[in-house]
Amino acid sequence: MFLDLHRHLEGSHSPAALATVARDFDLRTPFFFDETTGRFRDAAELSRALTMAGPSDDASVFYRCIVLARQAYVSVPAIRALAVAAFEEAAATTDGFELRISLFSMTRTLLENLKKAWREVPTREFAETWARPVLLAVLSARDEVAAKTKKPMVVRLGLSRTWESGPHYEALADVVIEHARQLVGLDVLGIVPPPDTEPMPEGLVSLIHRLRPHLNDLTIHAGEFAGHGSIDKVLGLSPRGIGHGVHALESGATLERLVKDGVTLEVCPTSNRLLIPSALAQLRAHTGGLEPLPALQRAHVHCVLGSDDPTPMGTTFHAELDVARTIGVNLNQLEADMRRRWLEMTGVSL
Ligand SMILES: [Zn+2]
Repeated sequence: MFLDLHRHLEGSHSPAALATVARDFDLRTPFFFDETTGRFRDAAELSRALTMAGPSDDASVFYRCIVLARQAYVSVPAIRALAVAAFEEAAATTDGFELRISLFSMTRTLLENLKKAWREVPTREFAETWARPVLLAVLSARDEVAAKTKKPMVVRLGLSRTWESGPHYEALADVVIEHARQLVGLDVLGIVPPPDTEPMPEGLVSLIHRLRPHLNDLTIHAGEFAGHGSIDKVLGLSPRGIGHGVHALESGATLERLVKDGVTLEVCPTSNRLLIPSALAQLRAHTGGLEPLPALQRAHVHCVLGSDDPTPMGTTFHAELDVARTIGVNLNQLEADMRRRWLEMTGVSL
């Protein structure tokens, strides 16, 4: 049994799902609709722009793909249709999975697509009129697909360290608390320009403390774009998982702390190959040439596998398992760690 335990909704909108939603919701923007021929673009045409052409240390190449897909967030029903497709596609290629949603950025994008200045929307209205229906649409899509496929699937709330507006995040948190029982935990995601690419803004840390009694299981993206110090910095918050965290391989002390605290690293091989190619090359000096996932396993760190953002990365969870096999991952250990992590975050033994 193999579970995809690091995957984002915004990176899971396939070209086929986007093409269908564009037609069904009549999205006549240049990306979806070709004025010259008077027809909607098909999945093959969309996929070229939605998928990274190759590795790049410049994260904006990746974000451009995400921004294109988000153009389809034009209404709550459109978001729900995309979410249903994303859950169905994830279910078809895994034995179960966790999907992360960036509720703030989804809500902000919906408002932007409706030509509303989100910063001018009162925080309470932002949360109640816009964010809550988006959250409920995603949760009902999950329930619909879970009932149909009978596969285990959970949703995690992502909070971005880009921290565009404290008051909007705080209002959104009030809504999230009411639906916390339908969520599996919290995630911190996103990067900002150097020097500190993986900061933990003070407001975000205090928001995490406020949400923690309701959403205890915390994961944090760290040690992906920044070094092992970024992981050391967040371990004080007692996360149960670290997104990527491959830079832990630079430091024996960081690896020891992860083992001692039983923290799981969520490793996404294709994502790392595409987004941090130079860092990966440098890490080989610490691993005797091994790829991060088998090297972390040999250091006795609990590791799970993720597809991260399958559409921009042009991957599937099956492809990630194939990569894991090829690079010498101990699949029995990987499966045991996935089951351990699932039990830890859901209380359910698979
Ligand atoms: Zn991620």
